[in-house]
Amino acid sequence: MIPGTRAAGQSAAWQRELARSITDPAELVRLLGLDPAFIDPARAAARRFPLRVPRGYLARMKRGDPHDPLLAQVLPLDCELRSVPGFTADPVGDLASMVAPGVLHKYEGRVLLTTTGACAIHCRYCFRRHFPYGEANPATDRWNDALRYIAGTSSIREVILSGGDPLTMSDARLADLIGVLAVNAHVERLRVHTRLPVVLPERVTDGLVNALVSSRLKPVVVLHANHPNEIDSGVRDACVRLAGAHITLLNQSVLLAGVNDNADALCDLSDALFAAGVLPYYLHQLDRVEGAAHYDVPEERSLELHQAMRARLPGYLVPRLVREQPRAVSKILLA
Ligand SMILES: *Cc1c(COP(=O)(O)O)cnc(C)c1O
Ligand code: SF4
Repeated sequence: MIPGTRAAGQSAAWQRELARSITDPAELVRLLGLDPAFIDPARAAARRFPLRVPRGYLARMKRGDPHDPLLAQVLPLDCELRSVPGFTADPVGDLASMVAPGVLHKYEGRVLLTTTGACAIHCRYCFRRHFPYGEANPATDRWNDALRYIAGTSSIREVILSGGDPLTMSDARLADLIGVLAVNAHVERLRVHTRLPVVLPERVTDGLVNALVSSRLKPVVVLHANHPNEIDSGVRDACVRLAGAHITLLNQSVLLAGVNDNADALCDLSDALFAAGVLPYYLHQLDRVEGAAHYDVPEERSLELHQAMRARLPGYLVPRLVREQPRAVSKILLA
């Protein structure tokens, strides 16, 4: 066997790690030494949107602390089942901008492909928690429509692979997709929106890095980290490997009550990202998705927090505070 290749059917270390993720609320509660009273509500909420946490991510949580900022992103709570006015299934109008199965063309020059519905972690505040991936997923058997749309739309200069998480796809599948995208002379940049290097840094293999730089497209990887405790040495190493291949690294975060709605956490996150070679890009106001109302930070408070960041950090470490709005020509800058 050629070094670095694998026999068909054999899975990579990251795929085995992904398969070992925690999906049973009782196991999560036991491993963290939490009050068993969390189990029943978590089971009820997980029936709507299942629990999923990689073991390596759980290892960064503090045992016995029900308020741990990483746990707070993944623990299903019964308040998710309450309906709150203004919190809907498609808060950002994604379905209205779907021009072909899995192709969202909302902004000039950029299209977003929902490549897969799969994620390595289930973030309870995710605005795609109700997204109909079955209908929207071109990865099933409908790639052709998506590729035809991109080929026929010469204004597209950047293709954004999103999901779900595009890095749950295998290296081979990703390399194939990048190859066919690069055939379009009008496309210049490849952007990948992913949380995998943060929640499962083992995913950043040489094979992945090679796939990302295998075409003429300029690669940009936009990570998703929300709290400085997420950035450990494994994540830093993964970022170093990506940056070493001349991949531009940015980060987007969501402002979340009970996770990062304080100036210390936000400033420490910017510092930790920079130390890993990543620049903060966006800080998103929560999308008002059904089941996530308990994470909402009032806009006034968000502005205060952003002001505090500007007062303490160099400008290049202050992310743009934005909100997504259906039918707008770009994300709305709040500060
Ligand atoms: C956020 C988003 C983009 C990218 O917007 P940028 O401001 O370039 O980061 C593109 N398409 C859709 C549908 C989006 O939601
Ligand atoms: S990784 Fe991203 S797409 Fe997946 S659940 Fe979390 S926020 Fe949503």
